[in-house]
Amino acid sequence: MITTYAHHDILVAVEEELKGKHREHCLCYKCTRFHPNDIMRNCAIAQTTYENCVRFGTTTPVYECSRFIPGEGVEFQEGIW
Ligand code: SF4
Repeated sequence: MITTYAHHDILVAVEEELKGKHREHCLCYKCTRFHPNDIMRNCAIAQTTYENCVRFGTTTPVYECSRFIPGEGVEFQEGIW
C-alpha cells in the first residue's frame, strides 16, 4: 500500500514497506567516499543525488555505483566483469 508522510518539509508518497529503508538500501552508507555532512568532501554523485531529492521531494537510494569504495568492515567481493 502507498502512504504519505512529511519528508524534507514536503508531503511525499511512499510504498509503506519501504518507508525509512533508504539507509539500509543505499550503497553510499557503506562507501568511503560518502561524507553526507561535509559538502566539500562528499562524493559529487552522492551530493548531487541528495540535492535532487531535496529539490523535488524524492528519495533515491544508490543501488549501483561505478565509483564505490568499500568502507572499513564492509563485506565486499569483486564480481566478474
Ligand atoms: S561513490 Fe557511489 S556509492 Fe560511493 S558515495 Fe559516491 S555515489 Fe555513493
